[in-house]
Amino acid sequence: MGSDPISVHALINAPGLKGKTVTSLSRDGLEDFVMSKNLKTQELEEPFFLLDLGTLVSLMNKWTRSLPSIQPFYAVKCNPNPAFLSALAALGASFDCASKAEIEAILALRVSADRIVFANTCKANAHIRYAASVGVNLATFDSIEEVEKIGRWHPKCALLLRIKPLLDDGVARLPLGAKFGALPEEVVPLLQAARAARLYVAGVSFHVGSVVLDSTAYRGAIAAARAVFDTATELGMAKMNILDIGGGFTAGSQFDETAAIIKAAVNTYFDSELPGLRVIAEPGRFFAETSFTLAANIIGKRVRGTLREYWINDGIYGSMNCIIHHNAPLTAIPFARTSNSVNPTCREAQTYISTVFGPTCDPLDTVLRECQLPEMQVNDLLVFPNMGAYTAASGSSFNGFKTSAIATHLVITPAIAN
Ligand SMILES: *Cc1c(COP(=O)(O)O)cnc(C)c1O
Repeated sequence: MGSDPISVHALINAPGLKGKTVTSLSRDGLEDFVMSKNLKTQELEEPFFLLDLGTLVSLMNKWTRSLPSIQPFYAVKCNPNPAFLSALAALGASFDCASKAEIEAILALRVSADRIVFANTCKANAHIRYAASVGVNLATFDSIEEVEKIGRWHPKCALLLRIKPLLDDGVARLPLGAKFGALPEEVVPLLQAARAARLYVAGVSFHVGSVVLDSTAYRGAIAAARAVFDTATELGMAKMNILDIGGGFTAGSQFDETAAIIKAAVNTYFDSELPGLRVIAEPGRFFAETSFTLAANIIGKRVRGTLREYWINDGIYGSMNCIIHHNAPLTAIPFARTSNSVNPTCREAQTYISTVFGPTCDPLDTVLRECQLPEMQVNDLLVFPNMGAYTAASGSSFNGFKTSAIATHLVITPAIAN
């Protein structure tokens, strides 16, 4: 990855994006986009995503500026949209894949196998054999059983020992420690098992949890990783040289503080290991969340006294499954495309207590309760910003509403100063 800021226009010609329609928008892009003649009426009746390549480029530049020596391996599971993956590849990202299909998707972009880490601690044999056949030679583990499988099916694979960071409750919105990561007392037996299987343990990985609320969590995990490097040395094993600090990052104002804490911790705990040390990260949400905006159509309405109830054509079994899985707070911006073309964003309009339901017949499929919205009509839109992380990726086709059929339109808004 170069250190020069990359321009969004270089991106448009990238493999996988070349030839695709990319619409340039003003700062308040959506109004522009919907009002332009780009979309047919039928397209506006369906939910759709806008992928803003301008935002993605600023995020990559922000990452490079704040953590210049830490290579991002984008966690594909967060949002595997093909255009998004192509753009990330063109911007120089590497990738964290968790399955055969994710590895296939990345290799199809002509990204070389050494830009992939197979970061799923428990892998099916068939997926390990596939990784071996295509030369993905770096994978995480946290169990003896995994050492045995990799030793059998992919003996050339270098390993990262995933450790469980010992964190206080509430450090992250979505902790991962219950499922992943070796406990301190398991480190020695795991390193010995790898040595017995003649596998090279190249380093240590961890994940402090998605949406980290306390950035100092990284410092403790980096210190714990250093202890594992020392343990390997004490056991007389080959020198480790990779520190993988995982994901958990958000792109908001907290990022600069997080980056400063990480750089300081790497300098403190890995001083003697630099310059040979390679530090990598697995950001998912950081790149995906703010790059995507979702627009849903109001397909139904009911008025009960002062309460307004709306049905939209995406919900918790679709892109908005993040409400259930990640407790994600959603913001709905009214866009009265049909009922108020003079003032579509409803500036200064009177608001009413409103409920927004998803399209399925499950009462749980409720997107917003008791929110304030202006009077909307059927065929108006509700627009949800920051909908790129763990949304479409984990939606279903429950009740016949297919998340995978939601279109994504590529746009460029002027880069926001991050
Ligand atoms: C999901 C995941 C990530 C990405 O996490 P974010 O919180 O979205 O940054 C990174 N690494 C692994 C192993 C994951 O499972």
